[in-house]
Amino acid sequence: MPKQPSAQRIVIIGAGFAAMYAALSAARLRDMKGVSSQELEIALVAPEPTLVIRPRLYEPKPETLTAPLQDVLKAIDVLYVQGLAETVDTKSRSVQFVTAKGVRETLPYDRLVVATGSRLFRPNIPGLAEYAFSVDQRDDAVALDRHLHSLADRPASAARDTVVVAGGGFTGIEVATEMPARLRAILGKNAKPRVVIVERNDAIAPDMGAGPRPVIAGALRELNVETRLGAGVASLDDTGVTLSDGVRIESATVIWAAGMRAAPLTAQIPAERDNFGRLLVDRELRVSSVPGVLATGDAAKAACDDVGNYALMSCQHATRMGAFAGHNAAAELLGEPLKPYHQKAYVTCLDLGEYGALFTRGWDRKVEMVGAEAKKTKQEINTVWIYPPKPERAAALASAEPERVTDV
Ligand SMILES: Cc1cc2nc3c(=O)[nH]c(=O)nc-3n(C[C@H](O)[C@H](O)[C@H](O)COP(=O)(O)OP(=O)(O)OC[C@H]3O[C@@H](n4cnc5c(N)ncnc54)[C@H](O)[C@@H]3O)c2cc1C
Repeated sequence: MPKQPSAQRIVIIGAGFAAMYAALSAARLRDMKGVSSQELEIALVAPEPTLVIRPRLYEPKPETLTAPLQDVLKAIDVLYVQGLAETVDTKSRSVQFVTAKGVRETLPYDRLVVATGSRLFRPNIPGLAEYAFSVDQRDDAVALDRHLHSLADRPASAARDTVVVAGGGFTGIEVATEMPARLRAILGKNAKPRVVIVERNDAIAPDMGAGPRPVIAGALRELNVETRLGAGVASLDDTGVTLSDGVRIESATVIWAAGMRAAPLTAQIPAERDNFGRLLVDRELRVSSVPGVLATGDAAKAACDDVGNYALMSCQHATRMGAFAGHNAAAELLGEPLKPYHQKAYVTCLDLGEYGALFTRGWDRKVEMVGAEAKKTKQEINTVWIYPPKPERAAALASAEPERVTDV
């Protein structure tokens, strides 16, 4: 796809939260400067023009948890290019991608925004690849949902009625606390599902800190969700799971929720990455050692402030990082000042199933709301805030002002 000799092009790889806001924000600055889409083309490359609402994939009906992007991209004159990026050549400044029909094409760029997100990390544990479910990507969540429904055709047994969730972090807790109600909806209201969280650390929610932990522990007690702490999953087979302390749990459903890694495309950029595979970026979200490349969302490790806090692999950080990355990519090409990324407000809103939710504020996670009150906020976040703006040009562009995105 050649471009006009005088034209410039920003290529954004991905169609997640970071990519969506990168596109909106770059288009916003282009619009503010009165520059046309012929002079500065913004192209978004992804397998589908669809935002997968990953933060909701632990819910029932996961096949419905997507939002179309094509209309909003069209409204803001961003070109959608169907394809999976395979190679990035940072010397010639081009991305090679493969289309759904298997055709390989090349897209030159002046600025590249890597917004390829993350994936569940699946270590090499015997039986994990064959028997573990997950709620990481849409297809994973759909496969789990189908499996849960198929349990209703099996005779009641300890294995049928037991779900083991491996990983007691944010995702593990959200999926585990949702499970009792989901299983009762499938197996009947008299079913007595058993849900067990297995966590290698000695505490549940190891990253949450001491303040919120009693609330989580109380919710797990109320929902009868068991925890097995200080032991990891050693192996899985078709009837259950064996833990590192030798304990055996018969279970037809083991859900792996123990850690994420940046998507593999980040390895194509010749730059330093952290243990999660995230590209190290400067405050403007540029990959310092590779001119013309910015990284954002779950694909980037970025400082949020000057006191040592770094962006987490979270939707909340990804949206705002996306807005800064898009702005800065366009700003470099248009000769405008760059904006250093920062995360004004950091909050956590953890779903706790029928118990409600937990809302904390700040990096020290001060508990602000629990139960039904926090659940209302969680539902608002998950059904309104994280969805794409409507395909109305002015409002969509305005929603991507980097300073405003996801201020809670
Ligand atoms: C079950 C679950 C619950 C969660 N709960 C929360 C929560 O409560 N709060 C919160 O803040 N976060 C939560 N998260 C995390 C959040 O979903 C992620 O941090 C967020 O999706 C990251 O956004 P992103 O845009 O960086 O990447 P993603 O959303 O992962 O999007 C990446 C995009 O890149 C595309 N892509 C990847 N590789 C290529 C390629 N080679 N070529 C082209 N396109 C490519 C993908 O198709 C996708 O469109 C949760 C995640 C899960 C799975």
